[in-house]
Amino acid sequence: MIHIENISAGYLNRTVLKKISCNIGSKDFFGIIGKNGAGKSTLLKVLCKLIKPYLGNIFIDNKNINFFAKKDFAKTISFLPQYVDTSLPFTVYEFIMFGRYPYMNIFKIPSDSDCNIVKKVMDFLHIMDFAERKINALSGGEKQRVLIAQVLAQETDIIVFDEPTSHLDIGSQNKLLEILRDLNEKYNKTVILTLHDLNAAGEFCNKLVLMENGEICNCGTPEEVLNYKDIERVYDTTVVVKTNPISDKPYVIPVSRIKER
Ligand code: ADP
Repeated sequence: MIHIENISAGYLNRTVLKKISCNIGSKDFFGIIGKNGAGKSTLLKVLCKLIKPYLGNIFIDNKNINFFAKKDFAKTISFLPQYVDTSLPFTVYEFIMFGRYPYMNIFKIPSDSDCNIVKKVMDFLHIMDFAERKINALSGGEKQRVLIAQVLAQETDIIVFDEPTSHLDIGSQNKLLEILRDLNEKYNKTVILTLHDLNAAGEFCNKLVLMENGEICNCGTPEEVLNYKDIERVYDTTVVVKTNPISDKPYVIPVSRIKER
């Protein structure tokens, strides 16, 4: 469904992504992993048309993203960046309503349908109770659910998240990833996200790409990508990879010191 073809991109005269190619299927829960600075966020920005690549093309359902009108693109793919300014005192309801902007006319007056969709996503994310609270007065986990609600209000088939679980404790992280998995499995959304936590990536994603220095060095199932040789080389550390006895998914344990026998 998404075909990334030979993308080179970067900032000013600095090339970050070097001839990246991969395919993302419509049913994928697609994780991008790799060290800091590997180019994960840059890849998401190119996919979401926030950065124009120097070379290469991206196709969504065989249509080059360059040929999407701005509003049509906003109805196709939504993006939650790593940092979102939540310092302004909008209410949660108002903030989520921004997600409906691509569907509104120039006067930006919400229709009944816009209001119903906002209520529906608030209900789905169990945040109805704080509709009238100010977004700048919420906890990290609550705020993250509101940001996701705004993305869902945009009603796109493809949702893209840049490190949605950073700063969250393990319980909040799991709950959030379970929500994204429901969106993928029950609501047929294509989920694309970057994750720092390799174990969460192995547990939730059906497909992973491992990036290194602006290139994809491995792509496949979590079992294929989370192999100790690649992880040790890319992250320059020693690890043990085991299989979670309950989920059968791979998990990675760092080794602090190798015992002398
Ligand atoms: P990752 O998401 O894997 O941590 P990024 O895509 O954020 O990596 O960054 C890749 C490289 O691009 C890094 O060296 C980073 O410093 C650089 N970079 C990221 N954003 C910008 C920017 N706005 N201007 C210039 N360089 C940037």
